[in-house]
Amino acid sequence: MQEKTKLKKPLGKARLIPGNCIACGARCQSACKFEAIDMNQAGEPVINIEKCTGCRRCLKVCPVEALEIFFTPKQQEILKQLAQEGGEAAAAHVVEETLDEEEDGLASKLRQYKGVWIFVEQTDGKPATVSWELLGAGADLAKKLDVELCAVVLGDKVENLCHESFAYGATKAYLIDDPVFHYYRTEPYYKAICYLIDKYKPEIVLVGATGLGRDLAGSVATELHTGLTADCTGLSIDEKNFLLQTRPAFGGNIMATILTERTRPQMSTVRPHVMCMPEKDASLRGMIIRESTPLAEDDIAAKVLEIIDDHKAGADAIDISAADIIVSGGRGMLGKENFHLLRELADELGGVVGSSRSAVDAGWMPPERQVGQTGKTVRPKIYIACGISGAIQHLVGMQDSDVIIAINRDHHAPIFEVATYGIVGDLFQVVPAITSRIRELRTQKANQCKADTTH
Ligand SMILES: Cc1cc2nc3c(=O)[nH]c(=O)nc-3n(C[C@H](O)[C@H](O)[C@H](O)COP(=O)(O)OP(=O)(O)OC[C@H]3O[C@@H](n4cnc5c(N)ncnc54)[C@H](O)[C@@H]3O)c2cc1C
Repeated sequence: MQEKTKLKKPLGKARLIPGNCIACGARCQSACKFEAIDMNQAGEPVINIEKCTGCRRCLKVCPVEALEIFFTPKQQEILKQLAQEGGEAAAAHVVEETLDEEEDGLASKLRQYKGVWIFVEQTDGKPATVSWELLGAGADLAKKLDVELCAVVLGDKVENLCHESFAYGATKAYLIDDPVFHYYRTEPYYKAICYLIDKYKPEIVLVGATGLGRDLAGSVATELHTGLTADCTGLSIDEKNFLLQTRPAFGGNIMATILTERTRPQMSTVRPHVMCMPEKDASLRGMIIRESTPLAEDDIAAKVLEIIDDHKAGADAIDISAADIIVSGGRGMLGKENFHLLRELADELGGVVGSSRSAVDAGWMPPERQVGQTGKTVRPKIYIACGISGAIQHLVGMQDSDVIIAINRDHHAPIFEVATYGIVGDLFQVVPAITSRIRELRTQKANQCKADTTH
């Protein structure tokens, strides 16, 4: 019996094979459960052999086989003894067995998680449309996985949102309806979501990348020690049924696809207007699971004393991400004073004015009008880009618009690569010409209507 315990001990220690590490981003360090790995300035692992248990997790995640197992002199001594006793093969077998058992345990733990959940965000009972967009995206994932699509509704007198979730494709809704959830506060919301996840074990949880959603998703993922990919622009399922979470990385220059392989649920946030809005069918029905949490108002440290609405009146307060038509200006506008040209065109079309980051940095437009990676993601029916070159950071925020019209005097400008219609010309001539033509057509139409009513 004592001999068997000895057999399990010499698992070896991990070490770096000099010259092989590519500084992939500390995957080995993330995989180590024993805090045995630090990273040096070159991004290479420094392994503390006192803490290393020889579990081989770091070897498994290394993309270039830059780590290996070695045996310390003391371990070699034990191995020698075992070899003498004919136990060498048994020792190797025990190592493999230990690892296989670990993998089996993990696989069966992951299998307990089933279903796709969408967090239904609401403020004062008014739902955020991104939640319905996520139900549309979640439906595809649920279909591929052959699991249920569920909504999670938290709030005060919000049962109607469960029915609205069914109309957008959910078949089940988990509801916690309690005055404690009237206003969003991180603590009760994340605790309630964690409680539901612990109890019902969904494999995927999607949350809108709004201010509220980012705060909530981050807190939930931290509490559950699971992965969270923020601002995804694409979600799909791979052949092993992992959620592939795609998002721009390295300043938007590449698209990274991220997997949560060893923990559940797999969590992602998605910005408004990135996913398509699904069709609404009010005849669809589903099942409501009513839940409650033991949280009482007295248990919550944060109190809401006053709500200050930041949607001040005035043109600058417009939410461009909800607009159907956006006329955007960039550095080519040459100055704040020229933006009235875009405002006039936007007014004729019933749209709003947006801008590139250059125009915001120059102080010509307020930050809430910025479209792009560090601004807003928009998906209007028509996006008119005036004097915008089409840098990748701008494109990621508007390239899914239904129709893109680009006006630029440089015919090599990258914006033309995503444009449905491109106008090569001076915007100071083209924009007023379009506005005036629209006014002409409008007057003609008004006269025609007048003539029709007279006859
Ligand atoms: C981490 C990071 C995040 C970023 N996030 C964003 C973001 O969210 N949104 C964003 O927009 N940018 C973002 N940027 C900046 C981005 O890289 C570009 O610098 C920016 O989009 C360029 O803005 P622009 O197209 O207005 O200016 P420019 O690139 O200078 O283009 C101006 C264009 O106007 C044209 N033009 C000039 N005069 C006229 C005229 N009279 N008529 C017609 N055309 C004319 C020119 O041909 C040119 O193509 C980010 C950058 C980084 C590094």
